[in-house]
Amino acid sequence: MSRIRGIEAKILKLQKEVQKQQLKRNGINEEDKKNREDALCSKDDPEKEQITELVHKLPKLDKIFQVHRKIGEGTFSSVYLGSLRQHSDLPDAQKRWFAIKHLVPTAHPARIEHELRCLQDMGGTHNVIGVELCLRHLDTIVFVMPYIPHKKFSEYVGDMNAEEVARYMHALLVALRHVHSFGVIHRDVKPSNFLYDRENRRYLLVDFGLAQRVCAAPEPPPAHSQSTAKRLREEDTDASPGAKRVALDLSMGARAHSVPVSRRIDAIKQHALKQSLPKSAGAGAGVLLKSPRQGTALDTWAAGVVLASVLTARYPFFRASDDVSALAELADLLGTEPIQRVAASLGRRVVVSGKRGGICLRKLARRLRGVPPTPPTHAAQSAPAALSAPAPLSAPAALSALNCSRCRLPQLQCLCATQAQPVSCIKRSFFNNTDPEEIVVADFPDSAFSLAMRLLDPDPRTRLSAHDALRHPFLRHLPH
Ligand code: ADP
Ligand code: MG
Repeated sequence: MSRIRGIEAKILKLQKEVQKQQLKRNGINEEDKKNREDALCSKDDPEKEQITELVHKLPKLDKIFQVHRKIGEGTFSSVYLGSLRQHSDLPDAQKRWFAIKHLVPTAHPARIEHELRCLQDMGGTHNVIGVELCLRHLDTIVFVMPYIPHKKFSEYVGDMNAEEVARYMHALLVALRHVHSFGVIHRDVKPSNFLYDRENRRYLLVDFGLAQRVCAAPEPPPAHSQSTAKRLREEDTDASPGAKRVALDLSMGARAHSVPVSRRIDAIKQHALKQSLPKSAGAGAGVLLKSPRQGTALDTWAAGVVLASVLTARYPFFRASDDVSALAELADLLGTEPIQRVAASLGRRVVVSGKRGGICLRKLARRLRGVPPTPPTHAAQSAPAALSAPAPLSAPAALSALNCSRCRLPQLQCLCATQAQPVSCIKRSFFNNTDPEEIVVADFPDSAFSLAMRLLDPDPRTRLSAHDALRHPFLRHLPH
């Protein structure tokens, strides 16, 4: 008995030795591999189970691919890292890597077909994800796509300089221009769907799960047994579980509808100023006002939110958990009047308790980034001490020089847009900020802020298209 055990031990030792040599040949550090395996076994057991279940349900997948680990998860899918079985002996660096998107079985078949069609028709070029293969067995469906390594947006959102922001936005807008040229709206543009391989300067717009044709007369197939709106909310807000959705009666029957925004604005403004504004890049003013027509401008709005996020180093930029709060946040940022005008053009009425003139994105960025304000040229030079410490001032003239006439805050704390502007002037006010303070935020030029505001134009008819945005001064120097 003991002899047999001895032989077994020798065989085991020999096997280990062979394995070790094999790994060495393949350039894989055995320790790394072991660590990875250990990690998979210990912390990710349920994940391992999911992988086992998936390959069991889809034997074809198992035949062609090694499924390594989960790399992403959304409401409608789990995404895994895969490599070709035939490459299993190759070192990692020489393997071809894939993202294997397993769609939840409850997703509507027409929705899945639509997503696949988008990937096939538009993907593989212009920073838009392509599809290599689609495998199905019964209700188990996977899309196999090229893998792009990427970090979480939150890891680099406050860390990009102007040139990198320009390249990033340029890449996103190139992808959107391409998608829009097919008459398709992505409808879910946000950082987790725009993957950025920072090291290699590669970008990919992914996830066409909510994409829709422009002016599609009939509603797109439901994404799920739950509504699309629910998906957007669940994924993109971190609202407290108890937060209630406020129902809006915005049925198309009546000519004008009231959207009560006023009562929430104050609370929201305070919140916005402290924390800053939403995560979901998706919901533009038109959507919040229940516009029945959604166009490609919806995506450029979302691109504007992404840019605003990068400029202010805040993610999420907006945080509202319901439509009314979201509308209030927009009114705070853009001013109540532009929102009311857009609403009116859609046959809606937004009721507010007090007018808001809008916030200057540059000032907001400065505040949120904690950039010390550049001393104002006139007022501050004459009274620098008063500015740095709000000492009691007796002369009303001095007060008015130091305090904003609208918000009454000291100039250096004021976030007001330069002047309350009619909607058509919003662009100008943000482009040519005539504020006496020359605000320098990181190394971002004025054009970066002006592009953000042109993308965040609440009126989809005047909002920049992806095509035109690529010609904006902030991006013009990049090839298009
Ligand atoms: P969902 O429809 O569930 O949101 P996505 O297609 O957006 O699915 O993928 C979810 C996540 O999986 C992405 O946010 C990303 O982190 C990861 N992922 C998706 N596609 C790829 C890819 N091609 N390469 C690398 N990671 C990917
Ligand atoms: Mg997604």
